[in-house]
Amino acid sequence: MIEEAKEKISDYLRLAVAQIARVLSGQSVSRQRGAEQQLHLFRHGLDSARNGIVICDALEKDMPIVFANSAFERMTGYAPAEVLGRNCRFLQRDDGDQPGLAELRDSLRRQDGVTVVLRNYRRDGSLIWNELSISPIRNERGLVSHYVGVLNDVTEQKRCETELNHNFHHDRLTGLPNRSLLEERLAAACTAARTRGGRLAVLFVDLDGFKPINDSMGHKVGDELLVEVARRMTGQVRSGDTVARMGGDEFIVLLAGPGRQEDALCVAERVLQALALPYEIGHNELHLTASIGIATSDGCLDDPAKLLQQADLAMYRAKQQGRNNFQCYTSNLDEETRQRLELRNDLRRAIEQDALELYYQPQIDGRSGRVVAIEALLRWNHPERGFIPPAELVQAAEDAGQIGPLSAWVLHAACAFNNRLLKEGQANVAVAVNISGALFRMDNLLGMVRAALERSTLPAALLELEITESVFLGNAEGAIATLQALRELGVKVVLDDFGTGLSSLNNLKRLPINKVKVDRSFIKTIISDRHDAAVMQGIISLAHHLQLQVVAEGVETEAQYHFLKKIQCDCFQGYFLAYPMPYEDLELFLRKPRELGSPVGEESGGKPPTLLLLDDEENILRALTRVLRRDRYEILVATNAHAALEILAMNEVQVIISDQRMPEMSGTEFLSRVKDLYPDTVRIVLSGYTDLKTITDAINQGEVYKFLLKPWDDDNLRSVVAQAFRQAAQVQNAGGGA
Ligand code: C2E
Ligand code: MG
Ligand code: MG
Repeated sequence: MIEEAKEKISDYLRLAVAQIARVLSGQSVSRQRGAEQQLHLFRHGLDSARNGIVICDALEKDMPIVFANSAFERMTGYAPAEVLGRNCRFLQRDDGDQPGLAELRDSLRRQDGVTVVLRNYRRDGSLIWNELSISPIRNERGLVSHYVGVLNDVTEQKRCETELNHNFHHDRLTGLPNRSLLEERLAAACTAARTRGGRLAVLFVDLDGFKPINDSMGHKVGDELLVEVARRMTGQVRSGDTVARMGGDEFIVLLAGPGRQEDALCVAERVLQALALPYEIGHNELHLTASIGIATSDGCLDDPAKLLQQADLAMYRAKQQGRNNFQCYTSNLDEETRQRLELRNDLRRAIEQDALELYYQPQIDGRSGRVVAIEALLRWNHPERGFIPPAELVQAAEDAGQIGPLSAWVLHAACAFNNRLLKEGQANVAVAVNISGALFRMDNLLGMVRAALERSTLPAALLELEITESVFLGNAEGAIATLQALRELGVKVVLDDFGTGLSSLNNLKRLPINKVKVDRSFIKTIISDRHDAAVMQGIISLAHHLQLQVVAEGVETEAQYHFLKKIQCDCFQGYFLAYPMPYEDLELFLRKPRELGSPVGEESGGKPPTLLLLDDEENILRALTRVLRRDRYEILVATNAHAALEILAMNEVQVIISDQRMPEMSGTEFLSRVKDLYPDTVRIVLSGYTDLKTITDAINQGEVYKFLLKPWDDDNLRSVVAQAFRQAAQVQNAGGGA
């Protein structure tokens, strides 16, 4: 239909133009009277056409316009009088670089007709998309004398097309380029890098902790967050670079032509910083970080998408490194991936073939010295790689979607084992099973626990589940509901690795848990780091207040054990008491009577007054001991601060005499720590030199009771120490006591 109409118009035009041409070329008017009438008719016809029509003289230089109809004026805003005599190109202004124009010139050269789409500009400067069809008109001699052009306004159609095209290439939420446009640009950047000899870099940016926010605060908040993330990322790159959204919380930054690899690192650093700033969404202040993988190339890749995969691998590494950091792709990551994939397959087989094992580590009650619980720890002796650390194993299981089967196996094995201990009368204690965050968030945790209890017939009270604070991130209310349901089943819940996560002591109040297990990073420094010691004391007193038990994990030395006991910690787990062991060994362990070293003097009723001497010179220690022995003190000696702290952790010491100048820390420094850890002790400095300022400061801050000079006067020393013990007794009676 349309083609037919076009042809008709075209025939009509041909006729009209031939007539007009005749008139324009000055043929005898008298001969043409009838023709003129006809011409008028044609002109009228052209003017009433809906399409813009222009006619140009092909025989004149620069092909001037010799006719333009009214529709042309309506369309372009130019009156015919303004355009007559000009070449049509003024319609494009300075937008001359158009594929349609090249095509047009080509057909003019061949004196052919053609239809092209052009960007033209109205008189007021606004853009108008025109479909232009031109046809040549030949005179009697067969020469092309004119061209007639028919202009169609296709602006609306073009706008729809552009919008569609934009939607096809952009992410609707953030307006950023999407995967398909990114891939186009990546391919173009590769070509450019190859031909111009530059480089390109791809940053794979994955947000940390977005999912829990999105799940718990709703998609509206999630969407706003993503829009802000997109805005911040775009602010960190140059105009020629591309920030694209791949979907979800994954973004790609394509740096076209970074000068050096460091440029990509700088951008990554800036993006990390920009994304870590707080987000104000509604009335909430939210926090996010990102993990970034970087891959660079000189463009010589058979498949540009490979670069995205490499950046993805590097991003995965960044996640493994604790998130909120960036990593660069290196070829050994390929090897790691291969190994990881292999591990997944092996793991699947291991679960099916029952090749995994549980080791058991006892927890000991501080008062009775009895085993009160046993933690089940996963072990896998891989046929080629040996023991795989459980954390890696659990991660591999999560990646492979195997966490469900793996956990079901662990739960069942642990319950069955514990039920056997119970039935055989070996122990009546709880078995503790670790529950990973991913498992906790699965719908069927409750069902899985119930099934394990039913199948093993273990009483629910003898199962403890160890969770970490991460399960509360995001959807805390949902997590609390799950814990409540678990408690209704009768199982106990333990908060594991306490102190490493984000939650505060305050949070403890609202959580339905039975025990808190303090992370071993605290225990490690407990006898020497006053901050950790104070935190631990705080945790214990709050936990007791909330009727929660406190377990210390990673207790490795006797000093740690005694110190923790002294500050009322309930339970202990660690190499000092027992290593994790296979069940045969555990059975032996349970049968063997145990003797835990109790602190010196603890059960002896009347405790002798105890004095600790610290000096890095052993002959000084010997001389001091000789003098002070006469007064029947219990005298303990140490040649370094660390040993002294161990002694303090394990013994009731009332008076301490410390040298001032020692290699690892000064006497005043040591005594200031002791003051925080054991405020009731009475502390004396014995020094060979006088740094008056340090000493007076220490005395003024109450860290030091007396300051004595070397060499000392024996009688004076004995009298000061006796005074110090009287002072200590007073403090004790006043209600102190560490
Ligand atoms: P966790 O639950 O905090 O377990 C305690 C870890 O500390 C165990 O490491 C244990 O062997 C180790 N440990 C115990 N006493 C000491 C000590 O005195 N010093 C030191 N340095 N370490 C000590 P392991 O067995 O390598 O397990 C590591 C983590 O893997 C566990 O930390 C737990 O989070 C996870 N895990 C273990 N088994 C399972 C499991 O069956 N399922 C899940 N989801 N996670 C598990
Ligand atoms: Mg644990
Ligand atoms: Mg732990």
